[in-house]
Amino acid sequence: MPRFVTVAVPCPLRRGFDYLWAESLGKEPAIGMRVSIPFGPRRLVGVIIATDSSNDIPINKMKVVLRVLDEKPTLPLDLVQLGQWAADYYHHPVGDCIQQMLPVTLRKAEQAKEKPAQYWQCSAEIKQLPPLSARAHQQRSLLAVIQQSGQLSRRQIKDLGYSNNILNPLINGGYLNKANAPVADGSYMHADKPILNSEQDAAVNAISARLGHFDRFLLDGVTGSGKTEVYLRAIEYCLARGEQALVLIPEIGLTPQTLQRFEQRFPGCVSTLHSGLSDGERFQNWRKIESAEHQILLGTRSAVFTPFNNLGLIVVDEEHDASYKQQDGWRYSARDIAVKRGSDHNCPVVLGSATPSLDSLHNVAQNRYQLLELRERAGGASAPAIRLLDIRNESLDEGLSKSLLDATTRTIAAGNQALIFLNRRGFSPQLQCHSCGWLANCKACDAKMTVHFGRRELRCHHCDASEALPTICPQCHHHQLIYQGPGTERLELSLKRHFPEVPVIRIDRDTTSAKGSMQSLVDDIRTGKPCILVGTQMLAKGHHFPDVTLVGIVDIDGGLFSADFRGPERSGQLLVQVAGRAGRADKLGTVYIQTHCPEHPALQALVNDGYQPFARQLLAERQLFSLPPISFSAVIRADATSLEGAEAFLERLRASLAPGDTGWSIVGPLPAPMTRKAGRFRAALILQAERRSVLHRQLHTACHIGDQLSKPQNLRWSVDVDPIDLF
Ligand code: ADP
Ligand code: ZN
Ligand code: ZN
Repeated sequence: MPRFVTVAVPCPLRRGFDYLWAESLGKEPAIGMRVSIPFGPRRLVGVIIATDSSNDIPINKMKVVLRVLDEKPTLPLDLVQLGQWAADYYHHPVGDCIQQMLPVTLRKAEQAKEKPAQYWQCSAEIKQLPPLSARAHQQRSLLAVIQQSGQLSRRQIKDLGYSNNILNPLINGGYLNKANAPVADGSYMHADKPILNSEQDAAVNAISARLGHFDRFLLDGVTGSGKTEVYLRAIEYCLARGEQALVLIPEIGLTPQTLQRFEQRFPGCVSTLHSGLSDGERFQNWRKIESAEHQILLGTRSAVFTPFNNLGLIVVDEEHDASYKQQDGWRYSARDIAVKRGSDHNCPVVLGSATPSLDSLHNVAQNRYQLLELRERAGGASAPAIRLLDIRNESLDEGLSKSLLDATTRTIAAGNQALIFLNRRGFSPQLQCHSCGWLANCKACDAKMTVHFGRRELRCHHCDASEALPTICPQCHHHQLIYQGPGTERLELSLKRHFPEVPVIRIDRDTTSAKGSMQSLVDDIRTGKPCILVGTQMLAKGHHFPDVTLVGIVDIDGGLFSADFRGPERSGQLLVQVAGRAGRADKLGTVYIQTHCPEHPALQALVNDGYQPFARQLLAERQLFSLPPISFSAVIRADATSLEGAEAFLERLRASLAPGDTGWSIVGPLPAPMTRKAGRFRAALILQAERRSVLHRQLHTACHIGDQLSKPQNLRWSVDVDPIDLF
C-alpha cells in the first residue's frame, strides 16, 4: 500500500499538500517532522501535518518526499494543532503559520552547528588582584551582578546592558574565569523577597490555587504596584510543581532591570527570545525550553509558539500593548494565542496591565476572566496628580505653554527631572511656503513629509522616502519656508535654549537606533541628576525613571479625535503609561496635559476618575454602538496601483457574500483615510458580527471567493481578524 502524508508548505495557498512517502526514506512518518519536498520548480522545507492521508491522484502523478530532516518531530503535536487552529481562525495559509512557528534556523534544510554559550564567573583569586579603579564603576557593578548570579553568559551580560568593552578587561585581568552553564538547584526558594502586601498576596493565592487548571486572570495594577512581584511568586509555585512558565513581554519591554530580576530570582532557569538575538541564539534558547533545561521563557510576540516540555503557567505582561498583534502577513495576536495555549495545556493564564484593554475588561464583565486588582503602589509611593492645561488662545513657544515651562523650571530648581512627551519625532510635521502656500508632500503617499532638521532632510514616516531639505520654495522660489508644528527634535532644541544649564536628553527612534544607545541614555537618566527628557512613546514603555517628578504631555488631542474608534482607548492608555513613569519611588509626581479640548468627556473621566472609570465609559459607548469587543470584527484590505482596482475587487467580493445570513454587517469598500501609501492605493471592507461563528462563516466564503476571483496582477489583499486598526 502506498502511503501519503500531508505537508504544510510555506506558500500562499490555504491548504496542506499530499506527498508520497517512499519505503526508501527508512523512517516512519510522524506529525511535526520536517521534510524536504519538491514544490513547483523549487525544493522547500515543510512540516508533516497528517500521516496516512488518503488520496485518489494516480500514484505516478504524485510528488515524493525527498528527505526527512528530523529524527523525531521538531514541532510537537500540540503546536501543529495550534498552527492549524490559528490558520482557520485567522484565515491564513496553514503553511505560512506553521513555518512562522519554527525558529528561522529550522526553516532551512541545512542547519549551522551552534557553539554552546560560554559562561563566566568571578575568579576565586579576586581578593588578591589589584582593586578596580574608582572610575571603573560599570566594571564594579558588573562584577557585583556576576557575583550575585553565580555565572552568566556573554549574551546574558550583554542583555543586562554591559558591553564587551566593560566585560573584556575583567576577563583579561583575571577577575573572571570560565564556568559551566548553571544548573537550577531550587535556590530561588531562599532568594531575598519582599513581603507581599495583602492585595499581592490575594493575587498570588488566586493564581497558584488554579495551577494545573485552565483559568484566566486579569491582573490590573498601576505601574509600580508590584505586578512583576506577583508573576515571580506565581512562577515560583509553578516551578515547585516541576512545571515551566512562559512570560510574554511587549517588543521593547525587556529592559535589563526586568531580566536581572528574573535571573536573580531564578538563577539558571531563564531563557529569552527577542529581536536582539541572532538566529543561532534564538534556536539555542528555543531548545533549552523544549528540553526543559530551562524552566522560564521570557520573550516577545513569537515566543508564544515555543514548544514546552511541561508548560504550567502563562503570563502576558502589559497585555494591552499593540506589539502583541503582528501587523503584516499572518496577523495573529500573541495575547489571544497565549490564552488558547493555556486552554490546550490546562494551565492558568495571567494578563497583566496598568491600562487593561477594553477586550480584557469586557471579558471580566462577562465573568470569563477573574479580576485581580492591585490598587496601591508597592513600597508606599503615591499616584501622580494630573492637571489639564487649557492652551486655547495661549501663545505657545514651539508648542510649549508658559505654565509647562514654569513647571519645568520649578522641577529643575528642586533638583528633579522632567519628562516632556510628544508622540511625533522629527523637527516639524509640515513644511510650508509662507509666500505661495506650497506644502512638502510625499510623492508616494497622501501624507506630509516630516522635517528632520539635524539631518537636513525631509522624510516620509509612512514609506521612508527622503529628500534634501529645500532652502527655497520649489514652486515660487521664495525663501520664506515655515515649519508648522513641533516634533521631538524641535522640542529638544527649544528646551536646550530655555534651560542651557541642564542636559536635555531626547529618546525616540532617531536617537536610539544605534545598538546600546537606548541603554546608555537610560543610564545617564538613572544617575538621578537634574535633566529634561523629551521623547515619543518609547518613553512610555518598560523603563522607570524614579527621579522624574514632572511629566508634560504636549499634545493629546490627535488621538482623541482619530478616525478609528479605538483612538480614545489607545490615547488614554498611552497617557496613563507615560504618567506612570513619574514619581515612582518616594517622590510625588505631577502630570500636565496640554489640550485644546479640556471639556472632552473622555479626558475629564481620565483625569478626574482614573483609567478604570474612563475605560468603563468607553466600554459603555462600544456597547451602545455594538462595536468590538461587544461584537466581532474583521477587515479585508486590498491595495493596488489604482484606487479603482482595489475598490473593484472588494466590490465583487462583497457582492458574493451571503446577504441572507443575519446577525452581521458589512461596510465598504472604503478608501483608507491615507489612501495612497508608498505608491499604492488602499481600501477596505469592514465586517462585523454579533457572533464569532457568523463572522467566520462569512470570512470563509470571502477567502474562498477572493482566491478564485480573477485579479489584476498588481492587486494584493489580506484578511485581518480582530483588527486593532481599521486601515
Ligand atoms: P510593576 O510590575 O507593577 O510595575 P513591580 O513588581 O516592578 O511593579 O514593583 C515595583 C517596585 O516595588 C519594585 O522595585 C519591587 O521590587 C517593589 N515591590 C514589589 N512588591 C513589593 C512589596 N510587597 N514590598 C516592597 N516592595 C515591593
Ligand atoms: Zn512658494
Ligand atoms: Zn511616503
